[in-house]
Amino acid sequence: MKLALIGVGQAGGKIVDSLVEYDRRTRTGYIVDAVAVNSARADLKGLQNIPESRQVLVGLARVKGHGVGADNSLGADVTAEDVGDVLAMVDNFPIHEIDAFMVVAGLGGGTGSGGAPVIARELSHIYTEPVYGLGVLPASDEGGIYTLNAARSLQTFVKEVDNLLLFDNDAWRKTGESVESGYRALNEELARRLGILFGAGEVSEGGSVAESVVDASEIINTLSTGGISTIGYASVEIDRPKRGLLARLTSDSDDIDDGDSTNRVTSLVRRAALGRLTLPCDISSTERGLVIVAGQPNAISRRGIERARTWLEEETGTMEIRGGDYPVNSDFLGAVVLLSGVYNVPRVKSLQAVAIEAQRNMLAKQETSGTALDELVHSGAEALDPLF
Ligand code: GDP
Repeated sequence: MKLALIGVGQAGGKIVDSLVEYDRRTRTGYIVDAVAVNSARADLKGLQNIPESRQVLVGLARVKGHGVGADNSLGADVTAEDVGDVLAMVDNFPIHEIDAFMVVAGLGGGTGSGGAPVIARELSHIYTEPVYGLGVLPASDEGGIYTLNAARSLQTFVKEVDNLLLFDNDAWRKTGESVESGYRALNEELARRLGILFGAGEVSEGGSVAESVVDASEIINTLSTGGISTIGYASVEIDRPKRGLLARLTSDSDDIDDGDSTNRVTSLVRRAALGRLTLPCDISSTERGLVIVAGQPNAISRRGIERARTWLEEETGTMEIRGGDYPVNSDFLGAVVLLSGVYNVPRVKSLQAVAIEAQRNMLAKQETSGTALDELVHSGAEALDPLF
């Protein structure tokens, strides 16, 4: 499936940068074009794979290229004022090649948190292609303002996109790692999952064709539940199948759908769905699902995929589980599970509760701070005269 990507804010830009890097390195070819949008000039400069000709600096008149300081209302305002520049750039994309747009942002900050829903809304107005969101939730130790930003942005963003894929930094952070190298690892993790998901139907020149192709319409149908989605992934290293005479002498069967291969695929899909999702959730609240198994064609068991789909139908309680294979030249067998329209997500509920508390606290502070300053600088009965 072919996508055009719009990364908004620092996290949005860096994640799109890493998706483009993966797409090029692995020759997956699902990204048609990519733009980075920011109100901070310095953040745009750090991007490696999105050239200046594909960068838009918004809010220059208001914030002088210095960012919006985690103020997501300001992020939304400056993006809305300059959204014409973003749309003009997208207008140059070969739209006939694009199956969908994806707007990417960290929801805890200012520019991406406020700007991504604005850009998604405008794209949806103009284009008939679906507009997806990819949002990153802040880790819980980032503080109240980031949580409040994320909760407000999430509420708005999910309304403006056809589906919002979420990645929860809280579920993924590791201790003992610097923030930057930690983020790099998270962004690579996302790149791998999205690369398999969206790359599945793309056949590179000379590459093998899948037995059961996952084409763009399968992904679009899965995501057309709307709401929120999460992605699971698992991989296992495989022995390369032996070739030639040795293979014939040592192998008693040419059938890749033997018990071992079938079990390997089913247990891999199970690990992908029950392991660490990009957004942890109760998978029985899934509306639709998609299973993709990627690897050497002769290591992918069709029967295994069928069994895995049946298993996922039982686990999620939905009959709408699509599936297919993705032939790639790799020593690993990988499974991606997309769970779409999930609604039992404790993390989102706790994010909202903390955000409401943070908002209440901020409003109370604002109310008392005026009188508190008055009491501090005025000394009661014996008032001093101000200078002017
Ligand atoms: P903005 O530039 O104002 O949109 O704000 P940022 O994008 O810098 O930060 C928003 C949030 O995104 C932060 O609170 C972090 O939770 C998260 N974040 C920042 N950089 C990255 C990154 O490279 N990867 C991931 N996964 N999250 C990031």
